[in-house]
Amino acid sequence: MPPTSDHRPPPPVDPLDRTRFPLDPWSFTECAYEGGDLGVTETLFAVSNGYLGLRGNVEEGRDTYAHGTFVNGFHETWPIRHAEEAFGLARVGQTIVNVPDPKTIKLYVDDEPLLLSTADLDEYERRLDFRDGLLRRSVVWRTSAGKRVRITSTRMTSVVERHLAVMTFEVEMLDGHAALDISSQILNRQDGSDEYHVTSAAMGEGLDPRKAESFEHRVLDPVLHESRGERLLLGYRCHNSGMTIATMAEHRVETDNAWTQRQHVEPDLAKHVFRVDAREGQPVRIEKLVAVHSSRGVPPRELADRCARTLDRAVVRGVPELQAEHAGTWKRFWAESDVEIPDQPHLQQAVRWNLFQLGQASLRAGSHGIPAKGLTGSGYGGHYFWDTECYVLPFLVYTHPQAARNALRFRHGMLESARRRAAEMSQHGALFPWRTINGEEASAYFAAGTAQYHINADVAYALMKYARATEDVEFLRDQGVDILVETARLWADLGFWQSNGSRQFHIHAVTGPDEYTTIVNDNLFTNVMAQLNLRAAVEGVRELRDADPRQFDRVMARLGLGESEVTAWEHAADGMHIPYDKTVGVHPQDSHFLEREVWDLDATPAHTRPLLLHYHPLVIYRFQVLKQADVVLALYLAGDAFTAEQKLADFDYYDPITTGDSTLSAVVQSIVAAEVGYHDLALRYFYAGLFVDLADGHGNASDGVHVASTGGVWSALVAGFGGMRDHDGELTLDPRLPDSWTGITWRMRWHGSRLRVTVGQQAVLLAVEVGGPVDLSVRGSTVHVGSEEVRVELDGHGPRRAGGPRAPAVASGIPTHRSADGASRSGVVPHSWSATDGAEDGPSAPVNRPHTEDPPTAHP
Ligand code: BGC
Repeated sequence: MPPTSDHRPPPPVDPLDRTRFPLDPWSFTECAYEGGDLGVTETLFAVSNGYLGLRGNVEEGRDTYAHGTFVNGFHETWPIRHAEEAFGLARVGQTIVNVPDPKTIKLYVDDEPLLLSTADLDEYERRLDFRDGLLRRSVVWRTSAGKRVRITSTRMTSVVERHLAVMTFEVEMLDGHAALDISSQILNRQDGSDEYHVTSAAMGEGLDPRKAESFEHRVLDPVLHESRGERLLLGYRCHNSGMTIATMAEHRVETDNAWTQRQHVEPDLAKHVFRVDAREGQPVRIEKLVAVHSSRGVPPRELADRCARTLDRAVVRGVPELQAEHAGTWKRFWAESDVEIPDQPHLQQAVRWNLFQLGQASLRAGSHGIPAKGLTGSGYGGHYFWDTECYVLPFLVYTHPQAARNALRFRHGMLESARRRAAEMSQHGALFPWRTINGEEASAYFAAGTAQYHINADVAYALMKYARATEDVEFLRDQGVDILVETARLWADLGFWQSNGSRQFHIHAVTGPDEYTTIVNDNLFTNVMAQLNLRAAVEGVRELRDADPRQFDRVMARLGLGESEVTAWEHAADGMHIPYDKTVGVHPQDSHFLEREVWDLDATPAHTRPLLLHYHPLVIYRFQVLKQADVVLALYLAGDAFTAEQKLADFDYYDPITTGDSTLSAVVQSIVAAEVGYHDLALRYFYAGLFVDLADGHGNASDGVHVASTGGVWSALVAGFGGMRDHDGELTLDPRLPDSWTGITWRMRWHGSRLRVTVGQQAVLLAVEVGGPVDLSVRGSTVHVGSEEVRVELDGHGPRRAGGPRAPAVASGIPTHRSADGASRSGVVPHSWSATDGAEDGPSAPVNRPHTEDPPTAHP
């Protein structure tokens, strides 16, 4: 068996310390306090509803890596200062703000503060329950006076009332009695240091481009600080963006102990302090209801009124009912979207954690986008990328179509600024921003950012997936068609016809998904996706014409569209240049890709990864080396445009030179590895994606959940191992179950019905759980599925290939030479240089590693 390259993920084993994180299919639980990886656990235990997010910071506030409270879309702007100016560069930076923190509840027992890092803990458990959506913590603390105190708390951001967070905090003396002080706070942590003068790591430090920027100015200008009866209120206006926010909290106390209370409010801090004379066995329970409202500019006083209304409703319902409603929504979430993997509890738990995070990021995002980190951290500045369309929307389209519709409407709402941006970039139509919060391009590094024009096609792709899976013609007619038309216009104008042998349509000077090769001609992914986009626009417009001629006339007039323009798109799509190299037998990533030297990843020291933190971009751009799947992603998204042989050849070529330095890569590599038959490799990549946050695989889970990867986990299960595709609106299955799995069950919506699919080693079981019958095809045979379970026998799970593909230079047959004697080499590792010691720490010269392994053999 050919060895698998070192740079690939390790064999699939459960990476978690089970003494600390025990197995539980329905929760992620920690049963020992650890102060060493607070950043990671704050992310893993974050709660969010898509509008409001609270990192899993401990209630006491002090032991922390990064405090974080985020409101989707609530951002500060700042002028991007380019060292060298040029026309059309992004001008306005946008960064999510760490909004006032309502999580903090401090406890003092006989004046001794509870601090988990130093406390003598008899018991500790923290549990994020996927079924009811509650974060619970329970500790028994032995004070220095030897008194044992039980502290139990819960936290949620309601998925029913998205402006509401609900917390409970209960303290009980287990021996003796004590004077308790409980200080519940709302604290502005964005501006400067916290109460212990600890600067927050939440808002970007260091040189890592994946972190958020930090600000030198005061971001949240105080407008309101009041106590209104039982309620605390802080209100702010964002200094540059003008966005406004109000946070209001109300507390309820239940206890048989004697107690008093006082409030204190100042511009950056509001607190409600309870003093309790606690007797043994007599608990005190505090309920903290918090409302948060934000806006682009509505005066904070008006937002305060909205907060008051949210709290009024919440108080009437009471905490048990609020928690029950919240649990009810999560129950429905699981009914629609659970994926079951029997007999593999560690996988089951991790899969549900990933799905839960997807739900948290998207369920109540409403009219906002879905940030790359959801609302669990400030990584990537809270920006929206193509992550939403290519990684999250597939999950939403088939499980929560309403949330998918919302995300698409959000893009539609951005169309006006996308039109302006296209004009600024000398183009017709609309150009969506590569990264943004407010709709304006915010990518300061245009080579790896703005140049990713494929964002347009990604939006159109997701839109068509939605339209075909849901048959929501109304959306297509009213909003979708505008997106299709304007994105198609951009491609038709950006590309051009060239006669070089044959007349073909080319797209130049763009960057594909792989950010380690930038500004290229005819990036395969871009051309294939643009082709799809152009065809979708043609179809969309013609379907509308046939279905509703009057509406069609209105749309044509609204968009100033003529039949000749539609025909031009059709020609551009048909004439699109799809680069293919006959000598090497692969699709080049772009027109010059195969001419570059090959980077030898197997010989690259692990400490120089990710490459982006150790090499100047120019060094990376010179080589055949990928940050993330590019051609391989096209093989999946536009799978019907490639033959099985082409997919294998392309995967074989690109996999050995793909670093996977972006977490968007492993999940895609898993899907295509499964399809072409590298079952073991597919499983390795799947584990890498599945545990990327849970086991901190990329070392930056502390910046927030990798939401695209969580979506990719769903796709890797359903499309990778389950083999589901729906090209052109036809639902098909061609499963690739790993040998070691007994089965996998998922649910998905198709044309309004909910289908349950169970893929086993021998057969597929299909049943409609909700709605009318569904037609689909299993390995080419049409199956009609109703509520009665249908069994379709399977003859194996596709080809089985051992190991993984070997390095490409030999395979490509294009030798490169570094010495005058013409000795060829299969790959090179550029010199690396460590800034810390100023010395070269990599191989002192390019490494030449001949590859002698036999080619992989196929076992169909
Ligand atoms: C990836 C992009 C992605 C972004 C946000 C980058 O590292 O290269 O494809 O959109 O992260 O997740």
